[in-house]
Amino acid sequence: MNGAKAIGPIPAEFANGFPAEQWIAQAGGTPLFVYDFTMIAARVARLRAALPAGVDVHFAIKANPMPELLAAIAPLVDGMDVASAGELDKALGVMAAQAISFAGPGKRDAELEAAIRAGVTINLESEGEAVRALAIADRLGVRPRLAVRVNPDFELRGSGMRMGGRASPFGVDAERVPALVKQLIAAGADWQGFHIFSGSQSLDSAAISESQALTLALAGRLAAEIDAGPPLVNLGGGFGIPYFSGDTPVDVEAIGRALGFQLERRSPMLANSRFAIELGRWLVGEAGVYLARVIDRKESGGETFLVIDGGLNHHLAASGNFGTVVKRNYPVAVAGKIGAAPEEVASVVGPLCTPLDRLGDRVALPKAEVGNIIAIFASGAYGPTASPSAFLGHPAARELLVGA
Ligand SMILES: *Cc1c(COP(=O)(O)O)cnc(C)c1O
Repeated sequence: MNGAKAIGPIPAEFANGFPAEQWIAQAGGTPLFVYDFTMIAARVARLRAALPAGVDVHFAIKANPMPELLAAIAPLVDGMDVASAGELDKALGVMAAQAISFAGPGKRDAELEAAIRAGVTINLESEGEAVRALAIADRLGVRPRLAVRVNPDFELRGSGMRMGGRASPFGVDAERVPALVKQLIAAGADWQGFHIFSGSQSLDSAAISESQALTLALAGRLAAEIDAGPPLVNLGGGFGIPYFSGDTPVDVEAIGRALGFQLERRSPMLANSRFAIELGRWLVGEAGVYLARVIDRKESGGETFLVIDGGLNHHLAASGNFGTVVKRNYPVAVAGKIGAAPEEVASVVGPLCTPLDRLGDRVALPKAEVGNIIAIFASGAYGPTASPSAFLGHPAARELLVGA
């Protein structure tokens, strides 16, 4: 349609329609995030089928810490990765402590103590944090489970958020890791291995495989210098999902085949190691849809605006304010009119008093009236958990898990 900007792909599972009004009634109103657990379970199953034996699947809960979702996904995954004491509490409610790891810079003493008392693995982010963790464990008389997060000397190509290959608040620079691990072992800690996370939101399967190969090689070199095999090598994740026009999904089967090939050829230092992939977005992102009601239709300067009852306060990412520079459109539709021919070009805006509050920019849509529901897809990850919900004092979004 004339003047319309492209939108991202609507996930196939939603493309034939879905019971939006029924879900809204069930949840008690809009705005609402709905997560379809059948899609999440299918993602886990597909990933497990694709990965070689000996590679565990972890869920990074910061992508979506909704309690019902955590309870439902817990039996399907081998571990959970948390990044605060708050997330740790949530994970401990649904998962055995030995299957939980705790990463993130700036862990407070109280957080380290909670993790050591619970018996979860701490992914140490610095030498200073190691000193504090050892002292706390000593005081408690507990043998702490400690792994070292490595700031790798490479980065994940095509990654939306690069986390390696440069000066970083995350992890210990690779060349300093052997000395630190030797110190942990000498202090009597239960050394758990390496955590090597090189990026996020990559759709480039070959780049993900390349970074996994580099990660395995780095882990092998570090283990040789330490002269001890790491019990676990967490290879990170970084699998992205399609958000925007032209985005294509990652080929997890190809990634799994390449990883199998690489594992067969791994350093003998890693012969007895277990491996893990930690994913947030890829497991849950496409399974979520944000539903908001049209409150007002207005014309201004020859353009049509659909004003909905929620915006960047619930869904910062869809507004483009979570790491993207150019504003591109998430997949968006008028619920109940999915697949209908477009009738107008409209911008979908939220209720906040800022021009940044725009969830769809000049989208070709079937005509939406006041009271209709707008659906924003690919909303299962980094929605409520990553949005400024207190901004302007609107009510929080509701959340509903279906299909569990
Ligand atoms: C954020 C994060 C993840 C999850 O990233 P996704 O892109 O959601 O898969 C995994 N591991 C670490 C260390 C992270 O910081």
